[in-house]
Amino acid sequence: MTDRYDVIIVGSGAGGGTLAHSLAPSGKKILLLERGDFLPRETQNWEPGSVFVDGRYISPDTWYDDQGKPFQPQVHYFVGGATKMYGAALYRLRPADFGTIRYSDGESPAWPLDYADLEPYYTKAEWLYQVHGNHGEDPTEGAASRQYPWPPVSHEPRINQISDDLTASGYHPFHAPCGIMLDEDHRPASTCIRCAWCDGYPCLVHAKADAEVIAVRPLLGLPNVTLLTGAEVTALATDSTGRTVTEVLVTRAGQRESYGADIVVLAAGAANTAKILLRSVSDRHPRGLANGSDQVGRNYMFHNSKAVAALSKEPNETVYQKTLGLNDFYLSDGTRPPLGNIQLLGKSNAGAMKGEEPKLTRLAPHWSLDEVARHSVDIWLTTEDLPMPDNRVTVDSDANIHLSYRFTNATETDGLYRELKTILNKTGMAAHHVLSKNFYADMRVPIAGVAHQAGTVRFGIDPLTSVADISCKAHELDNLYFADASIFPSIGAVNPALTVMANAIRIGDHIAERIA
Ligand SMILES: Cc1cc2nc3c(=O)[nH]c(=O)nc-3n(C[C@H](O)[C@H](O)[C@H](O)COP(=O)(O)OP(=O)(O)OC[C@H]3O[C@@H](n4cnc5c(N)ncnc54)[C@H](O)[C@@H]3O)c2cc1C
Repeated sequence: MTDRYDVIIVGSGAGGGTLAHSLAPSGKKILLLERGDFLPRETQNWEPGSVFVDGRYISPDTWYDDQGKPFQPQVHYFVGGATKMYGAALYRLRPADFGTIRYSDGESPAWPLDYADLEPYYTKAEWLYQVHGNHGEDPTEGAASRQYPWPPVSHEPRINQISDDLTASGYHPFHAPCGIMLDEDHRPASTCIRCAWCDGYPCLVHAKADAEVIAVRPLLGLPNVTLLTGAEVTALATDSTGRTVTEVLVTRAGQRESYGADIVVLAAGAANTAKILLRSVSDRHPRGLANGSDQVGRNYMFHNSKAVAALSKEPNETVYQKTLGLNDFYLSDGTRPPLGNIQLLGKSNAGAMKGEEPKLTRLAPHWSLDEVARHSVDIWLTTEDLPMPDNRVTVDSDANIHLSYRFTNATETDGLYRELKTILNKTGMAAHHVLSKNFYADMRVPIAGVAHQAGTVRFGIDPLTSVADISCKAHELDNLYFADASIFPSIGAVNPALTVMANAIRIGDHIAERIA
């Protein structure tokens, strides 16, 4: 055993990084173990070809589908985790998402807590992650105890026009919540240069509110916090009762190491958190740690998403496009089920569209790819997918992840797309085309688009149907917690990161109280 800590946190992304930030002021000795390194700041950060065509920041990992076919998942093993590449669209789940929702393919189960329970932590997360927005604009959102720390990011002229067109057609567009360090009054605090390299790119100037910049970097140099990079946690070992994690087993620079702590928190992302548990087999936990219920790895979700490039005659000279959202179809209206969220994506460009030429230009045959990119408005549709027991992560004897996944809620996904077509017709963007390879999640191998992975270690009240309790502590262990997207019992239809961050702060409060 190398050293002993009060708390070990595995993974430095949205969950683990935020938790470390929230626990650091306690003065307790914290070890943050991250398998990746710092993402290099280099010119390629903002090169569409490097990022989207070469996949420079996709970590080399091979997973297998349920037929045993290998694929490269869209994972990013860096300090900050997936948030290094995220679009920083920081939405709260809607209050209805915490209850049971009926869909055509089944039920989205309730969370063991309500929106009101998480609300104070949403507020803390919004202030920590510098979110810009305007609570009160989106009719579907829950009550907020405090306004966002920053006013909404202003729409550029083309987006303003679209917002006006939508309003004139009876829709309710709102300013989307964005986590960027932008001060539009150009006070010295502003590090964001309002560029197009936000969604899907690492931020070269560190002005995107990601978990590295916001949560982990401020801890570097604190005497009570140690960050070890290149430290892949392979398994956890327990005492003879099986109730206490005594060792965190790590491979670092080809060497095996082990660390101990009073409290251990897994926040390695939904698939890898499950992998660590499933590899931690012992006499007391023959199916893997905390897996007496056989729930570990099950109920994997990742959203039904579609990227759409809407082409219109007017050029779209927008630089930062992610300022608009629409939730008119998020909730059921009594005649149809909830369909999901519509939001604008980062502005696409010809470099990132390489390989799309034939399909993209079919609707505008005389346009070059540059022209297509210049006229496109990029839209992201999200429908909730359901936690199905057979949508699951398993691990083979060589420690490879296998991911079985069947899509759910196709009716709702199609319904949302139909509504979008109506919107496009009403707002003069009739020509549109779904990108087969989009710039957010690779849809050519659908399950490889693991950007929004969640579930696998859901929390709940009943130990027979969940892995963790309401404080996100494993039912079967006394000192093991989870702080990432793995705990989601259902995923809603908005981007998940703010919920991961808010819940991590909530767990942080609980752990701080426990170890005080
Ligand atoms: C391109 C892209 C765009 C996105 N855009 C948005 C957006 O706009 N809004 C939004 O809300 N969400 C977005 N997301 C999703 C969001 O980033 C994730 O939901 C969120 O980061 C999940 O948090 P997490 O803590 O579960 O996992 P992560 O943030 O991925 O953190 C997991 C960490 O654990 C580390 N790790 C894994 N295995 C091990 C191990 N064995 N040992 C040690 N460390 C390990 C990883 O390297 C990583 O740092 C996007 C994701 C991607 C990829």
